[in-house]
Amino acid sequence: MGRAKEMLEAGMTFEEYLKDIVENIYDSTIEGIIKLAIDKGFDNLSEKQQFILKNGISDYIVEECPNCGIKINYEDMDETINNGRCYDCQSHWERIEAE
Ligand SMILES: [Zn+2]
Repeated sequence: MGRAKEMLEAGMTFEEYLKDIVENIYDSTIEGIIKLAIDKGFDNLSEKQQFILKNGISDYIVEECPNCGIKINYEDMDETINNGRCYDCQSHWERIEAE
């Protein structure tokens, strides 16, 4: 229990996010580097590997909400990409739609 709570408070790490998206990556080179990053940590990759990885997953990375500019956490990232806006903007939008 304690560990789960700790993880929740710390938020999702980049490596945890990589585990989520690796199944969507079909390029074997990029996939290999992602698995290496999950294994060793992104910071332990070579500069070249970090560069290839970041380029390879750029479709899955959104650093801020395109609508309001708020910083996006990794746990909210795929939803933000799907919706094209952050959770707050999305719920605001849904409230408008419902009216
Ligand atoms: Zn937003």
